[in-house]
Amino acid sequence: MNKISKILILGGGQAAAYAAKEIRSIDIKSDLTIISEEKYLPYERPPLSKDYILDKVTFDDLLFFPENFYKENKINFIGSTQINKVDFDNKKISSSLKNYDYDKLLIATGSTNRHLVISGKTILPEENIIYLRNFEESNILKNKINEANNITIIGGGFIGLEIASSAVQKGKNITILERASQLMGRVIPLEIANLIQDKHKAVGTKIHLNADIKDIKKINNSYEINHNNQILSADLIIIGVGSLPNTEIFQNTSLKIDNGIITDEFSATSIEDVYAAGDVSNFYHPFYQEYMRLESFKHAQNHGINAGKNLIGQKTSYNKIPWMWSDQFNLNLQLTGICNNYDATAQRGSTLEEGIIYFFLKNRKIVGACGLGVGGKIGRDIRLAGKLSEKKTKVTNELLSDKNNKLNKI
Ligand SMILES: Cc1cc2nc3c(=O)[nH]c(=O)nc-3n(C[C@H](O)[C@H](O)[C@H](O)COP(=O)(O)OP(=O)(O)OC[C@H]3O[C@@H](n4cnc5c(N)ncnc54)[C@H](O)[C@@H]3O)c2cc1C
Repeated sequence: MNKISKILILGGGQAAAYAAKEIRSIDIKSDLTIISEEKYLPYERPPLSKDYILDKVTFDDLLFFPENFYKENKINFIGSTQINKVDFDNKKISSSLKNYDYDKLLIATGSTNRHLVISGKTILPEENIIYLRNFEESNILKNKINEANNITIIGGGFIGLEIASSAVQKGKNITILERASQLMGRVIPLEIANLIQDKHKAVGTKIHLNADIKDIKKINNSYEINHNNQILSADLIIIGVGSLPNTEIFQNTSLKIDNGIITDEFSATSIEDVYAAGDVSNFYHPFYQEYMRLESFKHAQNHGINAGKNLIGQKTSYNKIPWMWSDQFNLNLQLTGICNNYDATAQRGSTLEEGIIYFFLKNRKIVGACGLGVGGKIGRDIRLAGKLSEKKTKVTNELLSDKNNKLNKI
């Protein structure tokens, strides 16, 4: 393998950290640098809406790797540096203060919060209107939740629901406004969405589906939200209405972008020596033979590792079966595979105590599975469902729905 002199990783999140680790496990000579607009070393985001809000973990618990890992592995971390210009022809990226040259570049800029738009007006964050993506925002959010009484959460997706779960546990009154007719979007089976909804309602959270927000008015220190011609008052508004790939700085370049940076199964972009991984990438998945963009912890990690391998010359196809989770109250939701293209379903389990899993089948093979249960009840079967899916094992409804049939014996 030729010696690679300069590797730059743009973005300092999970994909970046794991790509750097992987590169160093193969090559120790190159000059390897991560550049991030955040001042912190790469850290886990999932606890920002859950355990961090509930003071169950500290910032140090969130770090993927401690500071000396970067020192020992000669991974330079340049924080508090936003890259705002890229020049692929001259292999250079720039902040407002400095240019950085590269031989190989990995883009791992993640995603950014989608802003709520009401009647053409974009609702930007302000003192008591909060969006959550990073550690700073989680700190602000935690303090604001502590001070607030009536909180409205706009968006009944994973992040909105996780924050609702955390805030209720702090004794707050919560209302959730969701534009769609079910929580968590259509990738989650309606039955599971309804179980989650029941759990939130059981602790007093008000949930309005099909919510059409007409206006948000600030009145003294609180807000009046007009939805479906009802007025709701809130002293804190939290917005979680989805996210967008962080591709703005590449808009006027030749980099191919379509709902994220287009990458092939080797994490390579349309530009030579430029790779992309994690939330920002719309990648070709050879197993499903389609492009997809995922926003999930495990994917960011695995995709970062894959990009690291390929960038350093170990050509490796990325074909991991997708997997993600969400924790709300004592419930754990997990999703594996893809659940939107199926011809049959099977249900395993009927109570949350034992765990309930819906399998999605196509031509008698599992293409996806989504489960919900108390604590870790569904973890093992979801993992096995992923394996059966990967192996394209033929199954039947009867095999899957009878809990006496162990999935690892199929
Ligand atoms: C609150 C929250 C809760 C979550 N909970 C779960 C969960 O329960 N389960 C799950 O599976 N997934 C969860 N996720 C998703 C998961 O955390 C993400 O998929 C993962 O962090 C993506 O990693 P990434 O490295 O692609 O991007 P990111 O982690 O977003 O990192 C990108 C980094 O690049 C930096 N950057 C962007 N542009 C520039 C620039 N121009 N210059 C310099 N730096 C730049 C960003 O500031 C950021 O630090 C959650 C996400 C959030 C925000």
